[in-house]
Amino acid sequence: MSPRGTIEDLFRRRTQPTSDGHLDWTGYRNKKGTATLHWNGGTHGALRIAYRIRTGQDPIGYAHATCEHPGCVAPEHAADSAVTPRRGHHTGPINRQPNGSDDQIKALLREGLNDRQIGKRLGTSPKRVAAIRAELGLPAFQSRPLTFDDRWDANTEPVDGGHIRWTGRLREGTSPAVHHGRRYVSPRRLAFERLHGRPAVGRVLPGCGYGPCVRPEHLEDQPMRDQLAKQCAAIFGAAA
Ligand SMILES: [Zn+2]
Ligand SMILES: [Zn+2]
Repeated sequence: MSPRGTIEDLFRRRTQPTSDGHLDWTGYRNKKGTATLHWNGGTHGALRIAYRIRTGQDPIGYAHATCEHPGCVAPEHAADSAVTPRRGHHTGPINRQPNGSDDQIKALLREGLNDRQIGKRLGTSPKRVAAIRAELGLPAFQSRPLTFDDRWDANTEPVDGGHIRWTGRLREGTSPAVHHGRRYVSPRRLAFERLHGRPAVGRVLPGCGYGPCVRPEHLEDQPMRDQLAKQCAAIFGAAA
């Protein structure tokens, strides 16, 4: 099912104006009661969209409604917690800027840290992390730990020529690394082992000529490279 129109169009179809100037949400609400909508493969917070409709940009913190109408998603009433303190939200000093950029939070989410860990590491609110998690469509860590497949999906993208590029964390600037079982491991090694059903021997590197490739079918370990070298030697040896 391909969504018709923009996310803002979809937002408008899921809302209902009230007689007193607010906007009710008729769409989905998650377990926490947050109005969300599914668009283009991701989950998006309705109030973040509302904020974007009003201001043309994403909130720095999380989006909240400034009015007293329960569940209101009116763009005119949507505010950024980093700019306008949330109503009745009186923890911490007012006007405290959130720490850590959205991009930093997204990077840690893709690595599989939970909201509390990220909040602690960046000195920001776990609720802000949860809002960005919802926007990315990542499952809540509490209900299900991220699997290797989740991390693979979040950290790879297809590239022309049938290759797959790693967009996630790199070790020493070049080696893809993924959080797995409490440590960082090579996603190439894991993908290789799943494809071939045996542990890789030596380094696992793409044999396709595209340096950043992590496509399982394009990966080779040392015995495979040795075998190819032997075959080449045999061909050139026979030709000599
Ligand atoms: Zn309102
Ligand atoms: Zn490749």
